[in-house]
Amino acid sequence: MAEKNYRVATQLVHQRQDRDPYTGAATVPIYQASTYHHPEGKPGSYDYARSGNPSREQVEQAVALLEGARYGFACASGMAAIGTALSLLKSGDHLIAPEDLYGGSYRYLTQLLPDLGIEVSYVDFTAVEQIAAAINPRTRGIFIETPSNPSFLVSDLRAIVALAKQHQLLTLLDNTFMTPLLQRTIELGVDVVIHSATKFLGGHSDLLAGIVVTDDEHLAKRLKRFHNGFGAVLGPFDCFLVSRGLKTLKLRLDAAQQSALTLAERLREHRAVKRVIYPGLDDFAQRKLHFSQAGGAGAVLSFELKDAGRVSDLLRDVHLPIIAPSLGGVETILTHCWSMSHAAMPVEVKQRLGIGAGLLRISVGIEDVEDLWEDFYSALN
Ligand SMILES: *Cc1c(COP(=O)(O)O)cnc(C)c1O
Repeated sequence: MAEKNYRVATQLVHQRQDRDPYTGAATVPIYQASTYHHPEGKPGSYDYARSGNPSREQVEQAVALLEGARYGFACASGMAAIGTALSLLKSGDHLIAPEDLYGGSYRYLTQLLPDLGIEVSYVDFTAVEQIAAAINPRTRGIFIETPSNPSFLVSDLRAIVALAKQHQLLTLLDNTFMTPLLQRTIELGVDVVIHSATKFLGGHSDLLAGIVVTDDEHLAKRLKRFHNGFGAVLGPFDCFLVSRGLKTLKLRLDAAQQSALTLAERLREHRAVKRVIYPGLDDFAQRKLHFSQAGGAGAVLSFELKDAGRVSDLLRDVHLPIIAPSLGGVETILTHCWSMSHAAMPVEVKQRLGIGAGLLRISVGIEDVEDLWEDFYSALN
């Protein structure tokens, strides 16, 4: 496909490489091979599949293109992508992160990084001065997730990037929630963007995948070294699934986002509901900041029941949503964060972050919103 600045819906379908260069097949084949022939003993474009293969390269380039960056690294899961991104730090370094991280990231940062000799400080990312105050001579990076989940705290990306540049710190951002369609953070100056492609990019709850993206050539070299050296790379078949999922990302996200607003507005009016947290609502606390750096509210919302004791009744009485940790699928997913996505987080931290036992998260799918509402409405009653 010719290099041209196509609009995002077009990029998603054509993905920089939209056909097999050898046969003209309408999709890039699943190159299910571990190694590649070296004619006369010399490697060609590919030598061994861990180092690179056409199926993987295609999806890496597709996501990099969407993020407005040059380099992508497809990993075996979102956590493998986070581990790959954090390989840019080494023993003795210090990282600043928000406490209200995705549960798996919280586990990685609190339990695994310290064993590697990397110290992490957790501060309130809604207050940039707290990030500034946590910087010490060993600080190398700032890890960002905005909006956070399930509390939907928004970090001021422009202010954090400015702070990082002033102190020559790396900025690493988990953009899983917003996707490159809604939040283009490389353009805002973020160095490394991470996705769990398990979620919206794949979009069908049928694979685990992660992608790390950067536009910095030097960082890309270091990421490639770890990606290849550590080897938690994405297999060819899963690359195909990500590529296939990407083609409909805009359609799926637009539809799900619209339904999320409808559900958020209706849930807010229900007498059993204490509060609804969704960036698209007019009473969302950090609405102005969120929309200054993101093009949409996304397809995930949280709501809290007045009576936390009724959560089990609700989980018993809803029929359509799959009740599970995860998000970003075509099917609606209902998560009890307390016991599922944030199980790895100590109770006192959950309480401090407002993740109460009565809080539920809905990742809105692309079902008919009236069916979803009827289901939630009858279960709430
Ligand atoms: C799911 C998720 C991850 C981890 O991704 P896996 O593919 O499950 O390893 C990381 N960050 C966020 C925000 C997520 O939602």
